[in-house]
Amino acid sequence: MNMKSGWNRRSFLSALGAASGSLLAPARLNASGLFAKKPKLPASSVDGNPIVPITTGLGSTGDIYAELGITPLININGTITVMGGSVMKPEVMELIRRGNEHFVLIDELEIAAGKFIAKLCKSPVGYTGLVTGGAAAALVVGYAGMMTEDLEPRMRAIPDVSNFPRNEVIIQKSHRYPFDHQIRQTGAKLVEVETREEMIAAINPRTVAIHFTNILSDKGKVSGPETVAIAKAHNLYTFNDASADVPPVERLWKYPEIGFDLVTFSGGKDICGPQASGILIGKEELIRYSLLNMSPQEDRIGRCCKVGKETIFGLLKALEIFVNQDYADTLRMYDERAQVITDAVKEFGVAALPRQFNPEALGNVTPYYSWHIDPSKLRITGPEVMQQLADTRPMGIGSMGAGVGGMRGRNPDEPAAERRPSRKSELADPTTFGFAVWQLKEGEDKVIADRLIEIFSAAPKA
Ligand SMILES: *Cc1c(COP(=O)(O)O)cnc(C)c1O
Repeated sequence: MNMKSGWNRRSFLSALGAASGSLLAPARLNASGLFAKKPKLPASSVDGNPIVPITTGLGSTGDIYAELGITPLININGTITVMGGSVMKPEVMELIRRGNEHFVLIDELEIAAGKFIAKLCKSPVGYTGLVTGGAAAALVVGYAGMMTEDLEPRMRAIPDVSNFPRNEVIIQKSHRYPFDHQIRQTGAKLVEVETREEMIAAINPRTVAIHFTNILSDKGKVSGPETVAIAKAHNLYTFNDASADVPPVERLWKYPEIGFDLVTFSGGKDICGPQASGILIGKEELIRYSLLNMSPQEDRIGRCCKVGKETIFGLLKALEIFVNQDYADTLRMYDERAQVITDAVKEFGVAALPRQFNPEALGNVTPYYSWHIDPSKLRITGPEVMQQLADTRPMGIGSMGAGVGGMRGRNPDEPAAERRPSRKSELADPTTFGFAVWQLKEGEDKVIADRLIEIFSAAPKA
């Protein structure tokens, strides 16, 4: 609801102006005082901010996880939302803190953030960005925007799209995935096709867009550029969900350049921004429609896709760091982490296997490191090693599949006994274990190495 009761924004501001006249008149505002350099920070600071002593309540023991009775994890699994996604760098935390220093008009901040994103991401002329509450939220507000445009009655009616002129979205059958729920959530009807011919045949006056699931490109029969060409020929929008598909960083500009009208990337995966953030890059008009369908606006489908000022600043800083990183350096750092582990386990006859790395992979591009256990020396299997890492306390090392799939509801049609074991564990070679190291924090390579020394010291000798 818009607060019409005399305290809407304008009357609030004018009341302030009248009450305090000269003090709040913008020209007289002593900005240099407000933004003056802060006194030098004490030595004990974190993220550029003095450590705030917490002496009572939550946090007062220094171990917030134990206070709630939960086990913190070292992430050797990946940028998995169920485990917390990724970890923000100190600079990102600092921007989040500063983003909390002042109030701003969120729409104004979003529009400015969008320009910042477009510049960083070398977006084509006529494109801009939007910070969303995750890539999934970008799907909701993006598809909502395509269907409602800037029409107030439509924005209030959605997800009832029955009276909208265009409410069908074409998707390749092989591109169906859990996040198409976010398309369906807008009321849009998905129309499945398999081939290029079927795609063209499915187009009708109610078609609004063609969806493209980037990570499933190799499963589909119609490529990204072909999808764009077909859509353009029929005056349809295209949306490319490339959420988990950077690095390589170039994809931030490559996909909009191909001609997709909207492209989303998750902010909380390897971009290492706030966990509940996402980036939507697209045609200015569509981005405006998307923001119109989103928080802070009310009576909107995307009102539950809220993004706060802190999140916006944090995401921008993370994206800046991500775009400007030297990926060769980053890779070297990953290799060094793995080397810490290799050096530690050598004495047990456990040896590093060649690094697996495919920089051309469609998504989650990161090296995978693995080690070989010599069965003539030790009687412990790779899965057992991984299980013992996961069972480490007070800090679990990885999650061994347990819980990383998220919570599941009941399915009366599927007897529990028929649940299939994960493909990964079936295929696991018992003499090897391995993981990715991209989401480790400083020093955690050493924690893993020390734990592996314990595990291998205690393992029965062959
Ligand atoms: C992770 C992911 C999403 C969701 O991203 P969030 O930022 O977590 O909302 C959507 N689509 C794909 C393909 C993803 O991998």
